[in-house]
Formats: sequence, structure tokens, C-alpha cells
Amino acid sequence: MARIGLVAHDDKKDELCAWADRHKRKLSEHRLWGTGTTGSRVIAATGMPVTLLKSGPLGGDQQLGAMIAEGRLDVLIFFIDPLSAQPHDVDVKALTRLATLYDVMFANNEATANAVLAYL
Ligand code: PGA
Repeated sequence: MARIGLVAHDDKKDELCAWADRHKRKLSEHRLWGTGTTGSRVIAATGMPVTLLKSGPLGGDQQLGAMIAEGRLDVLIFFIDPLSAQPHDVDVKALTRLATLYDVMFANNEATANAVLAYL
């Protein structure tokens, strides 16, 4: 059972919810965490249990980073919006940096998320 973090920027939340709903059966075999808004949206879209962290801009990205640093997260699914500036860009960078540093599986788009899920 993998420990999976879910995050999506605002313009990517619909895409992540649709992806999670399509892969509900497989995702249900794992434990899920999500930043506040993303996680709430995934719960509403799929009915799956997701442990909610703070909203990303209020520290949720950093909470996921701490989980990675402490060896408490195996997979990060983070649908990043490459077309919009994020007010919390420093947090986004810190989270992607830690995911890279600690060598966790890290998908930042749907194609890679599909490949990661197929691997799990
Ligand atoms: P949110 O945070 O799920 O609370 O919107 C995501 C983000 O970091 O932008």
C-alpha cells in the first residue's frame, strides 16, 4: 500500500478530480493525502477517503514536503499549472525540490500519473 499525496493548482483541479475518479478502484488500494482544496474536491468527486492537510498556499505544500522529508510519503501526484503564476511559488518549488531530493515517485501531469499508477 503506497502513501500518495494529491495536489493540483486551481486550473488543474478538474483534471485531477476526473483522473482520480477514473482510477478510483486502483487508488482505493492506497492511502491518500491532499492539500485542503484539492483533497476536498477529490473526496466530493470520488467519495474516497483523503486525509486533508492545510490549503497549499497556507502551508499544505510544506506539510507534504515535511512528510517526504520524514519518509512518510511514497508518491506525489502534483498537477502543476504551467500557464499561471502562483502566489506561493516558493512553496511549490520547495515541494518539487524535496520530491526530487528524496527520490519519491513524482508525477506532475496526467501521462506520468498514469504510468506511476500502473507501476503501483
Ligand atoms: P489547494 O492547494 O489544494 O489547497 O488549492 C494546492 C496548491 O498548492 O495550489
